[in-house]
Formats: sequence, structure tokens, C-alpha cells
Amino acid sequence: MSTNTLLILDDDDQLASMIMEEAIQLDFEVKHCTDGRQFMDTFIAWKPSHVAIDLVMPSIDGIEILKMLARLDCRSSIILTSGIGSAMLPLAQITALEHELNICGILHQPFLPHLLQKLLANHPSVDLHAPHSEHAASTLTIDQASLEQAIAQQQLKVFYQPQIELFTGEVMGFEALLRWQHPQYGIQLPEAFIHVAEQTGQIEALTECVIVAGIQFIQSINNTLTLSVNISAKSLHNDRLIVMLEQACQRFAFDPSRMILELTETATMLDTRQAEQILGHLRELGFKLSIDDFGTGYSSMAQLANLPFTELKIDKSFVMTMENSSKSRKVIASTLKLAESLGLETIAEGVENSLAAIGLRELGCRYGQGYFFARPMDETASRVWLMHWNNQR
Ligand code: C2E
Ligand code: MG
Ligand code: MG
Repeated sequence: MSTNTLLILDDDDQLASMIMEEAIQLDFEVKHCTDGRQFMDTFIAWKPSHVAIDLVMPSIDGIEILKMLARLDCRSSIILTSGIGSAMLPLAQITALEHELNICGILHQPFLPHLLQKLLANHPSVDLHAPHSEHAASTLTIDQASLEQAIAQQQLKVFYQPQIELFTGEVMGFEALLRWQHPQYGIQLPEAFIHVAEQTGQIEALTECVIVAGIQFIQSINNTLTLSVNISAKSLHNDRLIVMLEQACQRFAFDPSRMILELTETATMLDTRQAEQILGHLRELGFKLSIDDFGTGYSSMAQLANLPFTELKIDKSFVMTMENSSKSRKVIASTLKLAESLGLETIAEGVENSLAAIGLRELGCRYGQGYFFARPMDETASRVWLMHWNNQR
């Protein structure tokens, strides 16, 4: 009996049979469903090693299906199929990542049989009883060469998440968050590749991609919104960052005071005299400076007062727990007082519901960012979101 089993959810019979044929050749036992309910029932009863889900079906919400699979602690290798350029794809991949589903690849339509064979062959049937982490490892190798290719082939995409004035509901600006849209392995989140880029010295090239794309995006919307960009502490060891930022602003006639450079409070960053000088220089040029993930790092009162920061960003770990933890609420309240006494703007990340938004506002936090308002979105989705948001208000 075959140990490789594939369950297909696709309302297109012709496509499903093409997938079936390829899988059978690879000794897969295959079942095909055309509706969501039947698919879930079969999944529960059969526990297939692989599933292939068409994301774009008129009557079935592919994202909901992924969430249901996650609730069932699905260990199967998942292949997503979708039309080229499908708007659903980024959201589906992020949903899968957040729920620790094992996406083994993306199959674009019209699909290439050899790619499907590769996906099925590279991911032999998983031990459905093994602990979750054992099979979840991605087979994408992230190193200097693959990052080089990602840059050259423009696979690095900038997503944007809005930052909202909590008192007025106005959009202040967007934070640029980097994603690697790998043609085969799908979206890779920054935690998978930023540290590699820092080690290989490619982080500056990545930052430049973000800055150039981000400025053009913000400029194309209007001329008041701000752009927040994450800067690696590794970039504070020489002047290259300053030169690049100055050139980018000049090239696109972008006022540096509309750019907020977010730095996490790491010991290395705050300790060096050189980093201090670079931050001072950037501030003189007009750039704003934010301490990201505040509360999780090492900054002391003295460092905070001495460094030229303009904004303090409260870490999401406090914000996401403020509803149930009086300790988190106390940390937030005292952080806000500290920011006020130092004359810093305040923003909270990880605002996931209205209670958090209201609670933060009551504590005097000026800006908020989080899933409650919007998830990080690609450029097109960000424009649509902004239009709806402004129309609603
Ligand atoms: P960060 O700068 O603190 O960004 C906030 C992270 O929280 C983002 O994760 C965002 O997607 C996530 N987030 C936003 N709202 C919510 C929410 O309501 N709930 C929860 N649970 N999470 C929320 P992401 O995009 O995976 O980025 C992770 C980190 O990677 C960033 O943390 C930042 O430190 C780094 N990063 C991202 N883009 C870049 C970049 O271009 N350059 C550098 N050097 N680092 C980057
Ligand atoms: Mg940030
Ligand atoms: Mg943060």
C-alpha cells in the first residue's frame, strides 16, 4: 500500500486530474474533493501526507480552510495552487506561517508538471505522529548566494503596515517590513533571513531595497505620510548608511523628517561611541529615530536621555498581554511616563483588538500599529486599505 497520500481541493476537475496523474506516477494514492466540507471530512478520516489546495475558488475560502487545518494540528505537507499573481497568495502564506503549517511549495497555474514532481518528491510522506517541529523545517537554504539571487531577481518585496493616531484615527504613516517572495518556497519572513544578511554583509543592500521602494510608495500616496524603516545595528559601524539615506532622499526629493529609522535597543548599538556619532549625524540631517521593541532590550535611562531618539515604540509582548496582565499595563504606563518626560513620541506595536487600542489611548499612547488596524500588506493592498480607511472615517 502506498504511504504517500495526496488530498486535492480544487473545483476545477481538469486541473485536479492533471495533478492526480503526476502524483499517481510518483506512487501516490490520491483523492480529490471539490467542496470544503467534503475536503475537511476526508482530511480528518484519511490524514493524508500531502494536501494541494486551490486558493481561488468561488465558493470556498482558502484561508479559512488553512485555519481549519491549523486547528486540527495538520502535519501534512501543503501545496498551494493558484493563478499567477493571485492576490490571495501572500495572505495564505502568512496565515500558514503564523499557524505553523508546513507549506512545501507553490504551484502556479498553468502549472509545470516537473515542479509538482519536485515538490512531491522532495517531501516524502511525513510521520504524522512526530512532534510538530521535526518536519516543519524548510528546505530552502538561506545563504549569501541565495540572498544574492533574491536581490538580483527582485524577490525581495516590501510590505507595509499602517501606523494610526489613536486619538483621531488618522493614518500617520507606514512601517516597511521586508519579505522574501521565493518563487518556489513562498514568502519568507525577516526572522529567517535578516540575521544571515547581517553576517554576510548584505544587510545594507537589503536596507537600500527597502528605502528605495518605501520612499517611492509613500511619495506616490501623498506628501505628508511618514515611512518607518528598520535599521540593523550592524549598519551603525560606518558611514555607508548615512550616504545611502542622503542619496535616496535627494534622488526622490523626500524630506528626511518624514523618515523614521527604527533601531532595536541592543547593547552593541548603544555602547559604541561610533554608533552614537552616526545617530547624531542622522538626526542632524533631519531623520527621526525610534527605539523599536522598547522594554525588551538594554537601554538605561541615561542612554535614552543622551541618544537623539525622537520616538519610543513599545514592544508587542506588553501590548498583546495588557488585557490580562496588570504587570504589562504597569510597564506600558511607566514607559509612557518616561517617554513623556524625555519628550519622545510614543507608538505601540501589536495592537490586536479594540480593547488594546482604547486602553493604550487612555494611558496616553499617541500611535498604534497592529493587526486590529491592518496586517502588513503589499503595495496594492496597502493602497486599497488606505482608501477604505479614509472613506470610512
Ligand atoms: P519589528 O520592527 O518590531 O516589526 C513588527 C513585527 O510585528 C512585524 O513582524 C509585524 O508583522 C509584526 N506585527 C505587527 N502587528 C502585529 C500584531 O498585531 N500582532 C502580532 N503578533 N505581530 C504583529 P515581521 O514583519 O515578521 O518582522 C519581524 C522583525 O524583522 C521586525 O520587527 C524587524 O525587527 C525585522 N525587520 C523587518 N523588516 C526589516 C528590514 O527591512 N530590515 C531589518 N534590519 N529588519 C527588518
Ligand atoms: Mg520595527
Ligand atoms: Mg518591534
